Amino acid sequence: MADARPRRLAALSDAVTAAQLDALLVTGLANIRYLTGFSGSSALVVVTPRDTLLITDFRYQTQVVDEVGALARVVIEPVSLWSGLWEHLGAMGGVKVVGFESPHIVHRDFQRLLEAGSRWQWRATSDLVERLRERKDEGEVACIQRAVDVAGRALARTLPAVRAGMTELAVAGLLEHALRDEGSEGFAFPSIVAAGARSALPHAQPTGHRVAVGDFLLFDFGASVDGYVSDVTRTVVVGRASAEQREVYEVVREANRLASAAVHAGMTGRDADAVARSYIERHGLGELFGHSLGHGIGLEVHEAPRLARTAEQVLPQGAVVTIEPGVYRPGWGGVRIEDDVWLGAHGPRVLTDIPRELVELV
Ligand code: ZN
Ligand code: ZN
Repeated sequence: MADARPRRLAALSDAVTAAQLDALLVTGLANIRYLTGFSGSSALVVVTPRDTLLITDFRYQTQVVDEVGALARVVIEPVSLWSGLWEHLGAMGGVKVVGFESPHIVHRDFQRLLEAGSRWQWRATSDLVERLRERKDEGEVACIQRAVDVAGRALARTLPAVRAGMTELAVAGLLEHALRDEGSEGFAFPSIVAAGARSALPHAQPTGHRVAVGDFLLFDFGASVDGYVSDVTRTVVVGRASAEQREVYEVVREANRLASAAVHAGMTGRDADAVARSYIERHGLGELFGHSLGHGIGLEVHEAPRLARTAEQVLPQGAVVTIEPGVYRPGWGGVRIEDDVWLGAHGPRVLTDIPRELVELV
């Protein structure tokens, strides 16, 4: 597949020019990875219409050559990335007005910019790279698809091993072992495994709480492949489901199905959210769906665009978003079903291929 990075850098330099900047200092690590391929945890990147500079330290001198190649001018800085920056930025001709990424700089580093003196005028920017990242190219969608498939295989291996009496932590351990074994580089985010009444907590972390017969058991987790993540949720019942569990489950399942079929590029995030929300409201459970419908995924697990009541933004073609309606009854339990959907030119494609029918672990 063609190297996408030169096109990304060209698009960014257009955005830099349009923002009336001479250069952009990129400090967000996911943005650095997107633009240059560098996956290390310490780097500064400067992009101008003529030049890309990447400064990192000694620990990465082999890795940076492998990952970045000739795409950028690479500097291995022995003392401090920032002193390297002043030196090399000073040598770049015609660079006076420099943007920095305000969501990705800590206050101490911001002070360094101010202390660097009057040679540069610093301008706060946000989302110049993130806006490019919303539209996934073919290679990115392929990575996310692989991460989705790894997650599906890991869950399929985990469910038959779950027994009443296991702790949530033990179940999470089985799941995370299976994720690694199936090829996940790590975990997209800390896996959620929540049993019984704890499944009503949308962001429960696994605990020593033991799984019991009759519990909902909710898994929300993801794999990571070549830096790209998946984010899926399935809720099962340990033993036989009660009529009430089945009823709530079917409402969430239908809300997920309707929204996954309806979501498309060109609609607003608010309208996508409304497809699932209005269905759940019609069944009298609207008060129990307290979070938004979904979010973009890619190099990070929460990216633009958002699918929420307050999201006026139009969903761009090429985005990969989650569809994750849920119903949570405090003290009783909750159900969430989350899939990953690519918004292609000819409509949505659900990437997740994990059964959605209610599973009873008996
Ligand atoms: Zn999730
Ligand atoms: Zn999610």
